[in-house]
Amino acid sequence: MAKKTVQLVKGKRPVAKAPAAKVKAAPARQAKATRYVYFFGNGKADGDRTMKDLLGGKGSGLAEMTNAGLPVPPGFTITTAACNLYYELGRKVPGEVEQQMEANLRKLEKTAGQQFGSVQNPLLVSVRSGAKFSMPGMMDTILNLGLNDETVEGLKARTGNGRFAYDSYRRFMQMFGNVVLEIPKEEFEKEFDAVKHEGGAKLDTDLDEQALRDVVKRYKAVVRAKTGKAFPSDPMEQLRGARNAVFRSWNNPRAKSYRAIYEIPDHIGTAVNVQLMVFGNSGDRSATGVGFTRNPANGAKEFYGEFLINAQGEDVVAGIRTPMPITELEKVMPTAYRELRAHTTKLEKHYKDVQDFEFTIENEKLFMLQTRNGKRTGYAAVVIATDLVAEKLLKPAEALLLVEPSSLSQLLSPVFDPKEWKSIPVATKGLPASPGAASGQVVFTADEAVAWTDQGKKVVLVRKETVPDDIHGMFVSQGVLTATGGMTSHAAVVGRQMGKPAVVGASELRVNEEEKVVHVGGKALHEGDYIAFDGLSGEVKVEKVATKPSEILQVINGTMPEKDSEIYQRFKKLLEWADKARTMGIRANADLPDQAEIAYAFGARGIGLCRTEHMFFADDRLPIVRRMILADNEADRKAAVNELLPMQRADFYGVFKAMHGCPVTVRTIDPPLHEFLPKREDLMVEVATLQATNGNKKELEEKKDLLARVEQLHEFNPMLGHRGCRLGITYPEITEMQTRAIMEAACQLNKEGLKVVPEIMIPLVGLVKEFRDQKTIVERVCQEVMKEQGIKIKYLVGTMIEVPRGAVTADEIATEAQFFSFGTNDLTQMTFGFSRDDAGKFLKIYQEKRILDADPFASIDTVGVGKLVGMACELGRTARPDIKLGVCGEHGGDPASIHFFQKVGLNYVSCSPFRVPVARLAAAQAAMAVKVGD
Ligand code: ADP
Ligand code: MG
Ligand code: MG
Repeated sequence: MAKKTVQLVKGKRPVAKAPAAKVKAAPARQAKATRYVYFFGNGKADGDRTMKDLLGGKGSGLAEMTNAGLPVPPGFTITTAACNLYYELGRKVPGEVEQQMEANLRKLEKTAGQQFGSVQNPLLVSVRSGAKFSMPGMMDTILNLGLNDETVEGLKARTGNGRFAYDSYRRFMQMFGNVVLEIPKEEFEKEFDAVKHEGGAKLDTDLDEQALRDVVKRYKAVVRAKTGKAFPSDPMEQLRGARNAVFRSWNNPRAKSYRAIYEIPDHIGTAVNVQLMVFGNSGDRSATGVGFTRNPANGAKEFYGEFLINAQGEDVVAGIRTPMPITELEKVMPTAYRELRAHTTKLEKHYKDVQDFEFTIENEKLFMLQTRNGKRTGYAAVVIATDLVAEKLLKPAEALLLVEPSSLSQLLSPVFDPKEWKSIPVATKGLPASPGAASGQVVFTADEAVAWTDQGKKVVLVRKETVPDDIHGMFVSQGVLTATGGMTSHAAVVGRQMGKPAVVGASELRVNEEEKVVHVGGKALHEGDYIAFDGLSGEVKVEKVATKPSEILQVINGTMPEKDSEIYQRFKKLLEWADKARTMGIRANADLPDQAEIAYAFGARGIGLCRTEHMFFADDRLPIVRRMILADNEADRKAAVNELLPMQRADFYGVFKAMHGCPVTVRTIDPPLHEFLPKREDLMVEVATLQATNGNKKELEEKKDLLARVEQLHEFNPMLGHRGCRLGITYPEITEMQTRAIMEAACQLNKEGLKVVPEIMIPLVGLVKEFRDQKTIVERVCQEVMKEQGIKIKYLVGTMIEVPRGAVTADEIATEAQFFSFGTNDLTQMTFGFSRDDAGKFLKIYQEKRILDADPFASIDTVGVGKLVGMACELGRTARPDIKLGVCGEHGGDPASIHFFQKVGLNYVSCSPFRVPVARLAAAQAAMAVKVGD
């Protein structure tokens, strides 16, 4: 058992395999050189799909496609280990890596029948980044590498197409100049536009060879002006420069902030793919495109994507020309289209998941350039998972692994009222890129989105198009609306991934980001004006529109019959599969009967935390609670407490009933008493005002008394003050009353035929004697009530483990407590010594500096706080083998934390009612030990 604890407190995430280079070879045996470069081509690859850690997602996909006999241009992958080594050596590439790269380049020359740097028959390559996790926009790919003033002529001679040769050259210079030489893109765009303008060209494709030669000349001048040097013409120097730029790009600000949002570790590095070029820009029988085997927005089984004739690389997603829907390809290049369908269908079957693919057609011949499991919205994920089971491609347990638990919350996010939505005129329409209803005030930049949101406003980010630098703003917006770009543009892809509603390519929008105005349907909208859109239909409206609960929520609330909602039925089916796969119970934190009902409808089978004090805040109760607190003698206090009894009894009756006999853990009073009293500062003002204005004498006396008591109760550190069991110990009559209320309600329900087993929980216990004190009271009252009621029922008395001392002495406490529930909010606060109400200010900076990878209040710190939890579980079980273990902190609904709780062997997790579906799915994945979302 002890061994297990050690193992699970180690790391949070699976770590990429350490480069074997770090392991010193045993002297006796021959030291085998580490392989840093993996070849693919001629129908065979050194790597395969299992090697994502080392080859990155793109590299492993290229290898797997090659092995599957798909037409993939040959090439090689330089591993993530080489990238890590580069950083370890202070940004230097070791000789070994250089040698292996050159050897593989020779192999590629042989395979292609072309030579790198040759004038007669030049080999050209692309240099592509590719980490284990796809990171859109980390680095721009460099295409056509190997071109210079001589080789470009060779390319022209080989193809007989000078326009194409110089188009490739200028593209290469532009990409290399930007990515490797770090010259801003605009510097090149300016020159390009100037040439276009001078020649009266509208589209890029309108430029002829002569014009493109002119572009090349201008680009050379840009490079010289910006770097003081000539554009590097040596292909080897180009290749090394590009490779190192990919390594460097791993640590550029965009990549870093992407990793921070998606909690991708910093140390895993990126691979570099060097691949023979194929040319989608070689004429009208060539094209390039991207697609999905199913619709990633709504999950529909339809071939989905876009392409451009006579184009290269990112032209499709960059919004330079408007791409055509992929179905058009069938008309213009039927053979290539049929092959593409066949290959991608094969890939979907092979990977047993929707594929997101990239392809290029060179003179009617199709090449596959990338495949990966497609990112999708939470909505699409549920549709696809249930479809793939229906199609018998997957077993239910496998289908569970296609859905990222947290994405389920998208299905619960608000929608518009269909009637109201219909009544508002459509201002314009764009492409429905990511479903969901968005309504808010217009902002034009990501930074403004963040600033306005910090002020509590709801915003919609309106942009011409988004770029990777915008993700922080997209993250906080209600939705993202763009004027250009297709279904696979940046805004669309990132929107779907974040579960943000998005409408893209609304081409009638005239967005002026500098002047902060957008024109739509004859109206000018300024920053702060209201706009709304529906990410499922693409409709945009100029109005503030109220949103309402999603279909699933309507079924849960009982306002829509289950049979009318297809998505609810799929959602339910998926979660029922999850219930079969999971081993931990799922409970909810609910204080009131209506919350308990929702939690039950979402599938919670028990309450892990019912906070009784929340019942004290109701208007009709607060005056009584105050009387209880202000009483200066026991008799008065008892009188007030007894007034609360019937109210609490009714509350518990309702909660127990809503849980249909499932276990309910009720916590005795927890917060510091001053929380029930008016604020000290407010009272001081009121007293001063009454005195100054000669106000009502009686009122003044009352306020003065109140103020005196508030001052008495004032604490410097209320969170570490008179709260939790410390209250029950000093005011035993409160514990007595609460126990009585719980037991009377339970007895009554048992008499009515609903078997209820209450679990009474004492908070903030650090000493076994604290617990014993409270338990004695609870037991006594339970006996009394059962005797009065003439019925015996089962009940449990346990404690929260939320004070480090409680965790450390859990064996002692377990001799008395029948269950533990980990209060990980307080436990995190007290273990770190971070006030959870104040930590927000510095935790952000901690995360930016990567001192902490994640907010420990959102996702459990497995190393520190987790060690205490693991230890308390072990200690608790040694003292009481059948002890019931659960968690009721916020972490109970966090997928990563749920994996941890599975490992330490908790019996259940408890979370807020709306997180219950997430927890059900995450618990299933945890039981299968597969983290989805990695
Ligand atoms: P990203 O990771 O941003 O998707 P990629 O490395 O996939 O970048 O490259 C982007 C695009 O560049 C590809 O979709 C493809 O169109 C083009 N591309 C990359 N390598 C080649 C190649 N060897 N031949 C032709 N086009 C290529
Ligand atoms: Mg790609
Ligand atoms: Mg607590």
